[in-house]
Amino acid sequence: MSRSAHPAGPRHADVLTEGHYSAPAADLNVLDEKVWSRTVTRDADGALTVGGITVARLAEEFGTPAYFLDESDFRARCRAWADAFGPDADVFYAGKAFLSRAVVRWLKEEGLNLDVCSGGELTTALDAGMPAERIAFHGNNKTVAEIERAVEAGVGRIVLDSFQEIVRVAHIAQRHGVRQRVQIRVTVGVEAHTHEFIATAHEDQKFGIALADGQAAEAVRRALSLDGLDLIGVHSHIGSQIFDMAGFEVSARRVVQLLAEIRDEHGVELPEIDLGGGLGIAYTSEDDPREPHEIAKALSDIVTRECESAKLRTPRISVEPGRAIVGPTAFTLYEVGTIKPLEGLRTYVSVDGGMSDNIRTALYDAEYSVALVSRTSDAEPMLVRVVGKHCESGDIVVKDAFLPADLAPGDLIAVPATGAYCRSMASNYNHALRPPVVAVRDGEARVIVRRETEEDLLRLDVG
Ligand SMILES: *Cc1c(COP(=O)(O)O)cnc(C)c1O
Repeated sequence: MSRSAHPAGPRHADVLTEGHYSAPAADLNVLDEKVWSRTVTRDADGALTVGGITVARLAEEFGTPAYFLDESDFRARCRAWADAFGPDADVFYAGKAFLSRAVVRWLKEEGLNLDVCSGGELTTALDAGMPAERIAFHGNNKTVAEIERAVEAGVGRIVLDSFQEIVRVAHIAQRHGVRQRVQIRVTVGVEAHTHEFIATAHEDQKFGIALADGQAAEAVRRALSLDGLDLIGVHSHIGSQIFDMAGFEVSARRVVQLLAEIRDEHGVELPEIDLGGGLGIAYTSEDDPREPHEIAKALSDIVTRECESAKLRTPRISVEPGRAIVGPTAFTLYEVGTIKPLEGLRTYVSVDGGMSDNIRTALYDAEYSVALVSRTSDAEPMLVRVVGKHCESGDIVVKDAFLPADLAPGDLIAVPATGAYCRSMASNYNHALRPPVVAVRDGEARVIVRRETEEDLLRLDVG
């Protein structure tokens, strides 16, 4: 990612020494469609609208902070992924990115499958009517109770993550008199992040079973020997916010190699491979994500080519995008509170939320954009850091960005691309009330996850 080391902002330009920010956009009023959901636009008065509703109306009706999710964009992205991969592949939405009953219904209607990785996610999926056979169950430490429920419900696949779990799932399945469809999660020795991937010989992480040292082959041997298990394939997930397909290429090659070894040793060709999720989205104007059809073609070309050279039947591919589906579909709306210009440094803009509704900046040094959305402004750009109201100096939402210099308390600002891993990672730090998620579509807005109340906080506090 190329970042300008020297800010070109007209204010503070001579004094800034640290930070990764680009020059301000030529016109801060222009909303870069790359980072905003599809129905976002500015109305004649300059206010941002989503699904045909202005942010002023949304703020009045639902309060701030709040997440606004563009339902038609979400559905369009589901369809784009399903269409791109076609009938010979399966798209599993990774529920951990953001899951609610409404989301489950949209997925079901748009033909997607669903990954869950906890009892809570499984309950939500089943409660909202996702057919169990369209659910995959993940996790490196599924409890016995969770496995029992997944097997009883009849989930389409359980992704086995350890030698102990192979035995555990086999026993539980046998006890229920079923053969549970399973995949084995392997670590292929590739770690991918954004624009680079690292090939490592050893996997120093908690997920999966290493291909190296023949561990994965041994896991396959055991799974094939147990009556309770129907081994349908091999799973690999290599990272997150990935733009570079090279990591997937290495991963697919190694997974296909394992399938060939399995055929040679056991005389079986496993019918499926899962290449995981991790596809990147645009958080700022500098990110250039690929379209689902490009990703589908790249992955299917890689797998087809590798299978041809290994003389294997091409397996059915599945993928598990989470962020790439929900991430771009929502923004967080905040009201500006205190504004603190630090002479010679930057201006701190405090909002009515913070690390409790978006932990990604503090946790991963994530980058976000921000815009003034209740109006337009012709004021010059000022370098800001958008911070929350929590008792933590690392409580940063947007590290470096530009907002108009006439920004004032009471203005509404919005941070785009907060659909994934924001509400799902939200906390009650400082007894913050977790914000609602409001779905907006065709001029209508409805709460799909309500705002927490102080009563909710007190209800849990039973001391
Ligand atoms: C987190 C995760 C995903 C989804 O990752 P995204 O970056 O949201 O696409 C998919 N599969 C597995 C196994 C995961 O752990």
